[in-house]
Amino acid sequence: MLGLMQEWPLLGYKIIDYAAAQHGQREIVTRSVEGPIVRTNYANIRTRALKVAQALERDGFKLGDRIATLAWNSGHHMECWYGIMGIGAVYHTLNPRLFPEQIAWIMNHAEDKALFVDLTFLPIVEAIADKVPSLKKIIVLTDEAHLPKDTKLDLVAYETWLNSVDGDFAWKEFDENTACGMCYTSGTTGDPKGVVYSHRSNVLHAMIASFPDALNMSSNETIMPVVPMFHANAWGITFAAPLNGATVVNPGPRMDGEAIYELLDTEKVTFTAAVPTVWLMLLNYLEETGKQLPYLKRVVIGGSAAPRSMIEKFQDNYDVDVVHAWGMTEMSPLGTLGSIKPEYMGLSGSEKLDLQEKQGYAPFGVEMKITNDENEELPWDGKTFGRLKVRGPAIAKAYFGGAGAEQFDEDHYFDTGDVAHINKHGYMQITDRAKDVIKSGGEWISTIDIENLAVGHPDVAEAAVIGIVHPKWDERPLLVIVRKEGKQPAPQDILSFLEGKIAKWWMPDDVVFVDEIPHTATGKIQKTELRKQFADYTLP
Ligand code: ADP
Repeated sequence: MLGLMQEWPLLGYKIIDYAAAQHGQREIVTRSVEGPIVRTNYANIRTRALKVAQALERDGFKLGDRIATLAWNSGHHMECWYGIMGIGAVYHTLNPRLFPEQIAWIMNHAEDKALFVDLTFLPIVEAIADKVPSLKKIIVLTDEAHLPKDTKLDLVAYETWLNSVDGDFAWKEFDENTACGMCYTSGTTGDPKGVVYSHRSNVLHAMIASFPDALNMSSNETIMPVVPMFHANAWGITFAAPLNGATVVNPGPRMDGEAIYELLDTEKVTFTAAVPTVWLMLLNYLEETGKQLPYLKRVVIGGSAAPRSMIEKFQDNYDVDVVHAWGMTEMSPLGTLGSIKPEYMGLSGSEKLDLQEKQGYAPFGVEMKITNDENEELPWDGKTFGRLKVRGPAIAKAYFGGAGAEQFDEDHYFDTGDVAHINKHGYMQITDRAKDVIKSGGEWISTIDIENLAVGHPDVAEAAVIGIVHPKWDERPLLVIVRKEGKQPAPQDILSFLEGKIAKWWMPDDVVFVDEIPHTATGKIQKTELRKQFADYTLP
């Protein structure tokens, strides 16, 4: 017997329909690439998204076509997403921080047919356009006055293109499992792999992200996604904010401490999300200027582990709650969030920080387990670590084109490539990437734990730990440090600082100082590159 409820396919554009109907006047504020702060609202975004859809269809684009975007977070970028998905085409976010050749490789792999691009990124497009034969149209997210004339590219200004249709258009209808969006993982090992979101998975993920114990979305919040839309859907905020009618503030191209502070303050932002590197810049700016954060209530830190000292500063010096989160492009991306369960209510000081250093627990819609190399499940005892595997309705079941099949188990679990432990209350802590973990004398050493402690030293700006081959122990940890400007700690100062905080056999065998640690396009430490740099290094 079937239920007798209505069919109402979970289609992505229904989110913007809802926002326009119920929260039409709520603002979307953007620092534009042209400079000024521009303001629009959900009603306008929907009207213009319908025009995007109409113009795309008129130009011959259709269901299933991949339409790329190379843009900062903005109202325009949001309109494009909804317009693209409104004809059943697939928005494909490109990360401008990748090398142009990598972007071309990804565009060719996805066979992108059109591209929406911010003015700032035209030099990238000039370098690669003739290497992407599938690309038929380039629309620059600006008006006629700002459109460059001295270019060999065939460009059209977004405003001119939008105004060439009347907006009298209805969204297309199709199955909720139709592809909606696409994002490639950064490919720190091997070629990048394409993750394909469906309408259903994006809508479900937006609902999951909204839960009070997840991002706690509401129409009373003003949200600033500093995390870019090209980094795993701005962690779902581009869907979850309109789903709840929240005000959105987009930092656009400027993500330095001063620019972020300025918008947090003038727009009275209550909630924001980004990777630790961004928060490091903001906290430095606040320390230098003595400014405060009177409006901000909550900050989500994810993408890489949030250092304890960062969590502590936000909470103790600025009265801003930290929610530590873990996720992956393959998971739409939210996996776990560090909201506090009743079991832990009332914790304070270092006990609370111990909990918040963990990446949190999974919301409804994310099942997780940890396993050993034989795929046997390991206990949730808060110390046994194993490979972290996940399944759920907004988690990939394959990569585009069938790459990386070995990461998908027969029991439909996706192997995240992370190593973690989970405690009896379900709180998970990442101890490493499987490929970064150091194997010393048959035991595993967590590089993340050591790094997070090391950045707590007052003279340390950034820290990374890699394994160096050792004749007796297989591998031993080497601690690589970038010192804060004007500071000159000796290796022994750093080691003394770690003493007593980690097991003796985890102590790095050496500390080296460098000017810079290499990063990936999403701001993470690039251990593959660092290992190459230290390939000939011998431990003392
Ligand atoms: P990219 O590598 O392109 O940035 P993702 O954002 O999908 O792609 O990266 C996901 C990976 O980032 C996770 O598998 C995990 O290793 C790491 N990660 C994300 N959030 C955290 C966190 N809070 N703590 C530690 N590692 C994290």
